[in-house]
Amino acid sequence: VRDVGTPIDDSELAIEGALRPESLAEFVGQHKVRGQLQLLLDAARIQQRPPDHILLSGPPGLGKTTLAMIVAHETGRPLRMSSGPAIQHAGDLAALLSSLTPGEVLFIDEVHRMARSAEEMLYLAMEDFRIDIMVGKGAGATSIPLELAPFTLVGATTRSGLLPNPLRDRFGFTAHLEYYEPEELELVVDRAAAMLAVTLPHDGRAEIARRSRGTPRIANRLLRRVRDFQVVHGDRKGVDAVRAALELYDVDEIGLDRLDRAVLDALVRRFRGGPVGLGTLSVAVGEEAETIESVVEPYLVRIGFMGRTPRGRIATPPAYAHLGIPHADGALR
Ligand code: ATP
Repeated sequence: VRDVGTPIDDSELAIEGALRPESLAEFVGQHKVRGQLQLLLDAARIQQRPPDHILLSGPPGLGKTTLAMIVAHETGRPLRMSSGPAIQHAGDLAALLSSLTPGEVLFIDEVHRMARSAEEMLYLAMEDFRIDIMVGKGAGATSIPLELAPFTLVGATTRSGLLPNPLRDRFGFTAHLEYYEPEELELVVDRAAAMLAVTLPHDGRAEIARRSRGTPRIANRLLRRVRDFQVVHGDRKGVDAVRAALELYDVDEIGLDRLDRAVLDALVRRFRGGPVGLGTLSVAVGEEAETIESVVEPYLVRIGFMGRTPRGRIATPPAYAHLGIPHADGALR
């Protein structure tokens, strides 16, 4: 158990690391996934084998990396971290896999961005803990089989739809992480406030939770900005100081940030509520389509501000209301 209230290294990255829960019991929310994962880990422990491969999908900041660390922690094995973009050749993956120790947990973030040749090598590795290494080229090429130590792969993706089926099928357990409820985020804020020794005013944690876009990483980040505000304006301690700190960082009262609002604004004003294609929308706001699709859109859909139709994205009446723009027919289109 961590000693809450003790000062910890203050750099932002170190804080993010230090705030990560280390056990499933400390992990807030995601009840279903937590129960399923607990069973998977318990069964593996009783049978004294590495747990099945795990695929975690969902928007950024919901706890995929944290869960991978928890799997390693709970199985008492080391964690090796890599990411899809770092594995651009089968050789990169072969080097990684052949250096794993028995039972090691291999975390591959953005697993959908791995090179195709590496993906194919991973199929065999996941299934049989074995890879075939190609030596030589052309007619003289031969493949040398290499036995691997048994390991658990934890793959994370913001876009599970982009994973080829053969890869997806080789994960024994697939979990989709959902946005957190405000009450759950209050617990995240509470825990972090205790660890960072921040005293929040009455209603302060609810204010932060409400503006965190359902995302623990954002909740922790906003808490740090509130802490900065308290350091600088020591005499302002009420909930209005929390609001002032959050407004300074362009987080509106329901947690939408600058990019969320830019997308909504373009959809409503420039494209008259849609339908509009993702590519057009991305050009209009000057942001990559992938970011809009995996970061902005899921949240706007979740809060009912945006809809997806076969002809493109549409804005809903609540989105108009939030922007303060009258909606012609007042009904969903
Ligand atoms: P990305 O895909 O962007 O890497 P992620 O889904 O892996 O994001 P994490 O890095 O695991 O997200 O989590 C971000 C931060 O949020 C961490 O610092 C962690 O402390 C906190 N966090 C995430 N989930 C929880 C949770 N369920 N309970 C408490 N804190 C959490």
